[in-house]
Amino acid sequence: MSKMRCVQVGKPGAPFELVERDLPRPKAGEVRIKVQACGVCHSDSIAKMGLFPGIAYPVVPGHEVAGIVDEVGPDVIGWPVGTRVGVGWFGGHCGRCEPCRRGDLVDCRNLRIPGLTYDGGYADAMIAPADALALIPDDLTPAEAAPLLCAGVTTFNALRESGARPGDLVAILGIGGLGHLGVQYAVKMGFRTVAIARGAEKEPLAHKLGAHIYLDSQTQDVAAELTKLGGAKTILATVTSGKAMSTVIPGLAVRGKLVVVGVGMDPIEVSALDLLGGSRSIVGHASGASIDSQDTLAFSALTGVRPTIETVPLEQAPEAYEKMMRNEARFRMVLTTGL
Ligand SMILES: [Zn+2]
Ligand SMILES: [Zn+2]
Repeated sequence: MSKMRCVQVGKPGAPFELVERDLPRPKAGEVRIKVQACGVCHSDSIAKMGLFPGIAYPVVPGHEVAGIVDEVGPDVIGWPVGTRVGVGWFGGHCGRCEPCRRGDLVDCRNLRIPGLTYDGGYADAMIAPADALALIPDDLTPAEAAPLLCAGVTTFNALRESGARPGDLVAILGIGGLGHLGVQYAVKMGFRTVAIARGAEKEPLAHKLGAHIYLDSQTQDVAAELTKLGGAKTILATVTSGKAMSTVIPGLAVRGKLVVVGVGMDPIEVSALDLLGGSRSIVGHASGASIDSQDTLAFSALTGVRPTIETVPLEQAPEAYEKMMRNEARFRMVLTTGL
């Protein structure tokens, strides 16, 4: 194979186009990945619409990539041809900036992101720096692994670093692309897990995912219900509404944390008294570095956590993207190359 297909965006707001390109070759420190599956994420709209400075158009979106190393550049150790690997939002760090020097790789000031700062996984192949790679366990198919490299690591890492301990009350706000994984991880980590969503019709799904308790935010006062249960040590906010996040804050336990991983355009509003009384906090959590993705994949393989996916062939990327943007995907769209 000397050519590959890829789905690119020519300029901000332009339609996706399926094009053929020469197969790229890895340089020092890089590998080429034969892409088997790539998840379609809401953050792909950043590349599609040009919401980020410094995107080099035309760009191939996609930062939930699962495949196989098929060529290794010079100076790469430990990632031989044939290794099953994934790449997520974390697409490489500089190693020189202050956060990197402190070991905080995901907050690198020069963070590289596949599908934005270099071509991503809406393609038959892509080039990635070796430090962005995560091993995929045998038990996960490429299509299952792909969404775990973004939605999975985001929720898994936020929960395991939240400070909640086994048996603690943990609530997941929202049961969508992020939340349906968050609920499963919370249960498997041993938390007393509350799923919060809008409408009674989500209750069977919440229990199917393993939630012990379901709260319907349309008919119940969620903060009051959480308080009755003793208060939540962690509320993982996966929704895209600042208002919805604001209303649950009084349901936090003493020293409870609202951990924000969903992106809303409206602000989160909080009364100072709700923070002071009980020493509560609101924190943001970035997804994680490649080793966190690898941990996420290993934990998922071990415990049976799986994303709910709908797979379509690579050439249907435009339709998959539109379906995801209309919030009609249940829950993650995944492109497959057939390789
Ligand atoms: Zn993503
Ligand atoms: Zn850095």
